[in-house]
Amino acid sequence: TPDPTLRPEPRPEDADRALRPQSLDEFTGQAEARANLHVFIQSARQRGEAMDHTLFYGPPGLGKTTLAQIIARELGVNFRMTSGPVLAKAGDLAAILTNLESRDVLFIDEIHRLNPAVEEVLYPALEDFELDLVIGEGPAARTVRIELQPFTLVGATTRLGLLTTPLRDRFGIPTRLQFYTEDELHQIVTRGARLLGIPSDPEGAREIARRARGTPRIAGRLLRRVVDFALVEGDGRLSRAIADLALTRLGVDHLGLDGADRRYLTLIAEHYGGGPVGIETMAAALSESRDALEEVIEPYLLQQGLIQRTPRGRMLARRAWQHLGLQAPRDPDQ
Ligand code: ADP
Repeated sequence: TPDPTLRPEPRPEDADRALRPQSLDEFTGQAEARANLHVFIQSARQRGEAMDHTLFYGPPGLGKTTLAQIIARELGVNFRMTSGPVLAKAGDLAAILTNLESRDVLFIDEIHRLNPAVEEVLYPALEDFELDLVIGEGPAARTVRIELQPFTLVGATTRLGLLTTPLRDRFGIPTRLQFYTEDELHQIVTRGARLLGIPSDPEGAREIARRARGTPRIAGRLLRRVVDFALVEGDGRLSRAIADLALTRLGVDHLGLDGADRRYLTLIAEHYGGGPVGIETMAAALSESRDALEEVIEPYLLQQGLIQRTPRGRMLARRAWQHLGLQAPRDPDQ
């Protein structure tokens, strides 16, 4: 019977699995991480041992899951996938760990959301490939030790700061993923258009790359929407004009900001005079969860220099006032 705690089906936004790179060579960007991973994978293969546990952290959609799959493929081992919130009980994790074959890759997405009781079980598994399970209750309870096959845990998180220190310390290879440059996204969009069988002009692909928020997942999503417009309202070609038309219709502006990003910036400008304003106040005013603001919206706004994080809250930077076409009440960057 299928294990309900494993998540075999891809997430909806990954419906188009055709765009997922299958090897490190096909994977664009993250040059430093890729070069290091190449060494660690080769070394593990040469030694015939499990690769060291690896942690990927960074905003959503930058390729954490993709890299985990690539690692398994290049190691020539099975890939098993689950996520922190899905592992409710220690037994759920134990069931997965005892089913791993030698040197397999176990991927745990959102690993910062592991239940503490499950995390306890994970420590000896990571360190010594052993499980200590308590069987029974009360005076009859006893602990049994189960030997596991050596395996590689690949953890992914959007919030490194929410990981407990003991868990963090057990990853030999912590790797931060960065936003992609426009050139890297240009390559990714061009490759994607080829895989989707749509002819593309370099300027058409670049328009998508420029407006993809530094994120391959968004580039893939925008590409598919632009293709829709190209087929229905254009001549079937990904040109700059059709890309601009489609993205504008989708509410994606020239910096790649969408409606949610602009609501965030406009709120600080119009209701809080540019800030500082606390994150909880922002979350309440926008009816968004604090997590969504911190994990999804803010990283790109910070990277683009549109906002600043100060001890007293968020502030708009001069560039945000310019982008909104508003006059700053005072010099915000002083
Ligand atoms: P994360 O796990 O960090 O949220 P994923 O690995 O699920 O991100 O990647 C999101 C999507 O972006 C995937 O569908 C994948 O096809 C695409 N993608 C990610 N990184 C790259 C890359 N370097 N080159 C091409 N496509 C990529």
